[in-house]
Amino acid sequence: MADCIFCKIAAGEIPSQKVYEDESVVAFKDLSPKAPVHVLIIPKKHIQSVAHFQAEDKDLAAHIFVDVVPKLADELKISSGGFRVVMNTGKNGGQTVHHLHVHLLGGRKMTWPPG
Ligand code: AMP
Ligand code: ZN
Repeated sequence: MADCIFCKIAAGEIPSQKVYEDESVVAFKDLSPKAPVHVLIIPKKHIQSVAHFQAEDKDLAAHIFVDVVPKLADELKISSGGFRVVMNTGKNGGQTVHHLHVHLLGGRKMTWPPG
């Protein structure tokens, strides 16, 4: 999608520190990390948010959560200590980039509830 920063990152038009890429997904380090490990996992396809998933996206959603999240958590060595997966969605959810992204955070103890 034109003027979408994460579409540009997925296409390699804007530099990022990629930690993983396959045919449908890219993961890269968050520019403003909120934990010692903070990566964003995005679909290459522009989907606005988790509220905009369509039936045709089921395989993609499963791929992100069944394959990519646990694999990256292992590789980034946050599996055993525990980690947090966050999808800020829409205005009240605090979403600032309107291309679906999964925050994978770890390496420190988190608190609850979120601010
Ligand atoms: P959210 O507030 O959930 O929409 O998260 C957007 C995230 O994208 C924030 O954590 C930002 O730090 C991050 N971000 C914005 N631009 C970039 C970029 N060019 N490269 C890496 N991370 C970015
Ligand atoms: Zn996009």
